[in-house]
Amino acid sequence: MARIECPASLVLHTPACDDRTPADDDVPDVSTLDAFEAVYIPCGDGARYSVEASQLLHEGSTRVYRGTLTVDGRRPTHSEVVCKLGRRQALHREADLYRGKLASLQGRYVPTFVGLFDGAGVGEDGMSCLVLTYEGERMRESLYTRRSFFRKKVVSALLAVHEAGVCHGAFNEASIVVRDGDNAPLLVGFGGASDHECHRGTPIEFYAPQPHSEVVGCEEVYWACVVAAVWLPGV
Ligand SMILES: [Zn+2]
Repeated sequence: MARIECPASLVLHTPACDDRTPADDDVPDVSTLDAFEAVYIPCGDGARYSVEASQLLHEGSTRVYRGTLTVDGRRPTHSEVVCKLGRRQALHREADLYRGKLASLQGRYVPTFVGLFDGAGVGEDGMSCLVLTYEGERMRESLYTRRSFFRKKVVSALLAVHEAGVCHGAFNEASIVVRDGDNAPLLVGFGGASDHECHRGTPIEFYAPQPHSEVVGCEEVYWACVVAAVWLPGV
């Protein structure tokens, strides 16, 4: 990934009052105000990005905030964003997926890439910030409890990801967000994703008898269909 010539920057404001437990070694340390330099943004060399974080959505090996984005003091059309903070290598790889194999699925099956920014530290110890559009809340209930049209959309999204050459690696309800407005499911959490050549051998048919996993030919798709209650119980 080539560094752009006139670096744009990101300032991330995170809530000052934060009663989380002390971070372990795997969690990047963040202050209430962090500055990053753009590694890749779709346009606007030299642009000043700023995110006012409103909510800590997730804390683990990455820290994920929801916030409101301004670029050069103006709110873009889609100003609600998610900032994912973590180790440089992993987030660069995830950004490469959004910019590469998942690019054509953005806005339909996965969130839209806004930018990748590097913070303090060098090499593997460095911290980065991946900014994506915020689409909605993560699913809280079990997928099988949702109506069939929603489950079909989830399976379609995963199939599209596989056809794009990516295995999600951690597919479950926590990797599904439900978009505000149209309630469409989008897949997130590609931190553990890998390159994939899908050998799916049969169309996924809802309410057909459950086929053997070898007939389906792709382990992640097979188990996603089980989680989504696609098939009638096996006999
Ligand atoms: Zn596959």
